[in-house]
Amino acid sequence: MSLARIFSRAQLGLEAPLVHVELHVGRGLPSFTIVGLPAPVVRESRERVRAALLNSGYQFPAGRITVNLAPVELSKQGGRFDLPIALGLLIASDQLPVCSRAVECYGELGLAGELKAVSGMFLAALRAAQAGHALIVPCANREEVALSGHSAAFDAATLREAALRLAQGERAQRLMGASIDREAADAGASAAAQPLSDVAGQWHAKRALIVAAAGGHSLLMVGPPGCGKSMLAARLPQLLPPLSSAEALEVAAIGSVWGLKPDAHAWHRRPFRAPHHTASAHAIVGGGPQVRPGEISLAHQGVLFLDELPEFNRRVLEALREPMETGSITLARAASRLELPAQFQLVAAMNPCPCGYLGDLVQQCRCTGAAIERYRSRISGPLLDRIDIRIEVPRVPADELVQAAVAAGSAGGAGSAHEQSPPCAEVRSARDACQQVREARGRRMARSGVLSARLSAAQLPECCTLPPASEQLLRRSCQRLGLSGRGVYRLLAVSRTIADLADSDSIEPQHLAEAMQLRRPLSVA
Ligand SMILES: [Zn+2]
Repeated sequence: MSLARIFSRAQLGLEAPLVHVELHVGRGLPSFTIVGLPAPVVRESRERVRAALLNSGYQFPAGRITVNLAPVELSKQGGRFDLPIALGLLIASDQLPVCSRAVECYGELGLAGELKAVSGMFLAALRAAQAGHALIVPCANREEVALSGHSAAFDAATLREAALRLAQGERAQRLMGASIDREAADAGASAAAQPLSDVAGQWHAKRALIVAAAGGHSLLMVGPPGCGKSMLAARLPQLLPPLSSAEALEVAAIGSVWGLKPDAHAWHRRPFRAPHHTASAHAIVGGGPQVRPGEISLAHQGVLFLDELPEFNRRVLEALREPMETGSITLARAASRLELPAQFQLVAAMNPCPCGYLGDLVQQCRCTGAAIERYRSRISGPLLDRIDIRIEVPRVPADELVQAAVAAGSAGGAGSAHEQSPPCAEVRSARDACQQVREARGRRMARSGVLSARLSAAQLPECCTLPPASEQLLRRSCQRLGLSGRGVYRLLAVSRTIADLADSDSIEPQHLAEAMQLRRPLSVA
């Protein structure tokens, strides 16, 4: 046998296309060539494979060795092809029998023959399972492969162990006994029962969070430093219902490509990403030579929190508009275009002015009118228009904080912060916030198939029945506030969610009025 073929997979955006690793050992002067668009790191595989074979007690075949990674037009990156090349050499030089079943192999080799983890293994394992191929992977990738649900995967710590698994074929011991039960592993983890109960005061902001969660709306909080904007934002994923099984798989696959290992204990938890404002466009939107997903894709099905919104690069902010509309991002590469999912819920926060204290009761603002204008104009009108809910988050008065702390202490914690009297009935039941959100989302999904934030312009009129009083109010407000066409649609979408929270088929004037309260123009100090 002088020819061998083993399967592996490359990585291209969110795809893991199959690669045939073909090896031929021919007569002639000793040489070792890898063809098929290998990246420099794949070409260096020659040296690692040679040392690993010798140090594992095998012979390095003499002759003219050609490795072809097909299809040739596909770019191959990383050290994952070391193991298939080494095993192929063993088969081509008759040191290992030919394997009768289709096996995919992955692993970077150390010089002593040890196998190191490869990135993106979760996605590759998913695709291998779909193709019905068996798998040999490094021990270090064991957990993510188990989470993928692949039922014929084997793990190995060294090249020798991997060769043994390949030779044993069907008789080899299954990896990890069985795949991890993802649903059971996460039991209880999604039961973050009272996400808002320990936030003192801020009833208006809490209500805005509930509406945002119920309708999938994007949210902007404007307030002085230290008023709790970041804390409130971090509660949103807990208000949202847990990921469905299909969503969890998709989220884990995106994370795997980025280098995040899937976590069995957070399997159904919504992602929460909070990139710093100095992050580059590639880091946030995605891209680069190997097309890695950016933060907006890592936040898919979850929350993207941008603190200090005006400090972000303007180009980055403008690039958010497309995914906010379509739920995906198209990245152009040298010769192709790739689409990555990016259906995130945007939560942004900003100070009211550069110093942060405009309108604050405690500290005096020292900014000039021009400086405030410049600061706010960094967020373009079209982007602002796409943010459905915009609220001010004032500082919680000190006595209210003290009162909450005392109440929590005397009642032994759990939910007692609610015993202060909240200003409106909608928030009084904030302890059931998750329940309210779940029910409202359920109603909308049952009626329209999408959340209100994603209702199209064609769907909105049929979903938003306005009684005469509401229609009159809307007409008056449009004139008074000078709303754009998009502004009216966004206002209706938020009203729809508020009506859903109240289990009302029609949008009553009070729903519309609350939606207007939740959509303040940015210029209000
Ligand atoms: Zn200021």
